[in-house]
Amino acid sequence: MKDFGLHIWGEENFTITHGRVCINHATSPSLLAITQCVRQKGYKGPLLLRFPHLIAKQISTLFEAFSQAKESFGYQGNFHAVFPLKVNQFPNFVNTLMEVSTPYHYGLEAGSKAELIIAMSKTPLGAPITVNGFKDKEMIALCFIAAKMGHNITITIEGLGELETIISVNQEFNQHHPHPICPKIGLRIRLHSSGVGMWAKSGGYSSKFGLTSTELLEAYELLKKAQLLDHLWMIHFHIGSQMGDISPLKKALREAGNIYAELKKRGATDLGAINIGGGLAVEYSQHDTTRERNYSLKEFANDVIYLMQEIAKSKNVAEPDIFTESGRYIAANHSVLIAPVLELFSQEYHERGLRLKAINPPLIQELHDLFSTLTPDNAKEYLHDALDHMESLLTLFDLGYIDLEDRSNTEILVNLIIKKAILLLQDTPSDELRQLQARIQEKYLLNFSAFQSLPDFWGLTQQFPVMPLEKLDTKPTNPATLWDISCDSDGEIPFRQDLPLYLHDIDVTQEEYFLAFFLTGAYQEVLGMKHNLFTHPTECVVRFDEAGAYHIEEIIEAQNLMDVLDDLDYDTALIDKSLKQSIEQAPHLLAEEKQDILGKLYLYLSENSYLKTIQAQSSE
Ligand SMILES: *Cc1c(COP(=O)(O)O)cnc(C)c1O
Repeated sequence: MKDFGLHIWGEENFTITHGRVCINHATSPSLLAITQCVRQKGYKGPLLLRFPHLIAKQISTLFEAFSQAKESFGYQGNFHAVFPLKVNQFPNFVNTLMEVSTPYHYGLEAGSKAELIIAMSKTPLGAPITVNGFKDKEMIALCFIAAKMGHNITITIEGLGELETIISVNQEFNQHHPHPICPKIGLRIRLHSSGVGMWAKSGGYSSKFGLTSTELLEAYELLKKAQLLDHLWMIHFHIGSQMGDISPLKKALREAGNIYAELKKRGATDLGAINIGGGLAVEYSQHDTTRERNYSLKEFANDVIYLMQEIAKSKNVAEPDIFTESGRYIAANHSVLIAPVLELFSQEYHERGLRLKAINPPLIQELHDLFSTLTPDNAKEYLHDALDHMESLLTLFDLGYIDLEDRSNTEILVNLIIKKAILLLQDTPSDELRQLQARIQEKYLLNFSAFQSLPDFWGLTQQFPVMPLEKLDTKPTNPATLWDISCDSDGEIPFRQDLPLYLHDIDVTQEEYFLAFFLTGAYQEVLGMKHNLFTHPTECVVRFDEAGAYHIEEIIEAQNLMDVLDDLDYDTALIDKSLKQSIEQAPHLLAEEKQDILGKLYLYLSENSYLKTIQAQSSE
């Protein structure tokens, strides 16, 4: 895994140049240079870098794929896309998204009132807004307000109750109005074919969402009776996220296409769109053996257009407009999470930890000789000898024949021998070597919280590509387990034989070492939780100007300690007062000492929860 799977998940967004991972765009700066630039401004701890050019790339690739598919099939319907806000509602993302997507009339999808307010304020007039999820009267009224503002908004009905509410809200807003304005109406269908993957509950017959065939017919009658049939214009489905295989989509398209055609023929003449929801998958895998997606965007677009055309043709109805609500595909690759390595937990096995005596037990002397004379030719044999000696030495300790220093020397020497042998034999890997390697894995302590920044790793064991920012011209040999700084043993990404991660052997007291997690832009940010009160990391937007130089903009620092407590609804003024009082009334402090301590306390309160220093020598 020399390139950490970059050729699998990278989509040519990054390159490796002079051992560093670089942005494959404009002047191709390295992630390390960008990281150091931000850190020089005083921001330490984990860092979330956002790249608008990558959002622009995803949007243009999506529209281009459908435009080509439409052209090659001579498809008559239009293609539209909206971004489902639940995937990432952070302002630095959404503002950038709207900025780069203006040429496409790209819109937003909302699933709650707060998301709807974002959509109403950020979507350009004319670009589509779709509204899904369960709705009450107020939410439906908000949709009417959006329509009255001039928005091109579609309410997707999840159940008949919502339709009844729409009819009554319509009366409230439009009765006796000379120019009645009502949002467009979509019907979410309950698919007979089941949803996909870990998110299967989004689609399928037992899904939380959508109307059965009987309900669809009832909805039709209700709309007709309320004289709103001319507003019925979209059929919607969503089969679930991260669809690895395309066949469930094809089944769902056939179902939705036929429902569209049936309702249209029945009399819903203004029905004109099929919304295929999200589900377009992202390749997160770093390993050839575990790819997550077996189709290309081109295949996806062609299948959608082809199947819709087939159905429209056979039922003799107009080819519908196609809407997508792909979120993961648009957002995942735009951000990179940089986590500084604070410490390696295997330093005890460093040669300098040896406590050799003037006269050592013979087997320890032997281990030392094996270590010093290891070569590629004898490595295997010496390794076996060393393991043998270790067993004997541990037995000698149990029987009281050697002391604790001897035992410590044994552990260090055997680990050093295994490490050296692995390095010498790296071109002839064997199962035995791999197993030994797992045994001497290093624990890398990273200045970040997996709960905050990779919640889907914690909740769904989703893997995210990870690699160091530099030294990529040197083969890493340490099997690595990653620890975050939360006090929870679940905040660990363990070394796995089936998905091995190797990192470099470094001395963090001498040099900095950063790991980057990629494809973190979808779902992770808002699902992230403040376990241990670690908050969203410091973030910034990295933009390139016309000359190709990059600029670090819109920096938002991780919340300071008092703001975190304020978010939990603590009375921070009271906390402030009580801390101050405790220092002022402390019995054994001198007046100037109190001043000094108060000054320090307020400095620390203005900082965030992430670690700044771990040991005296380190700059973190
Ligand atoms: C979550 C969701 C999406 C986005 O799905 P992705 O897999 O992220 O593309 C789209 N539409 C609806 C209705 C959703 O609930």
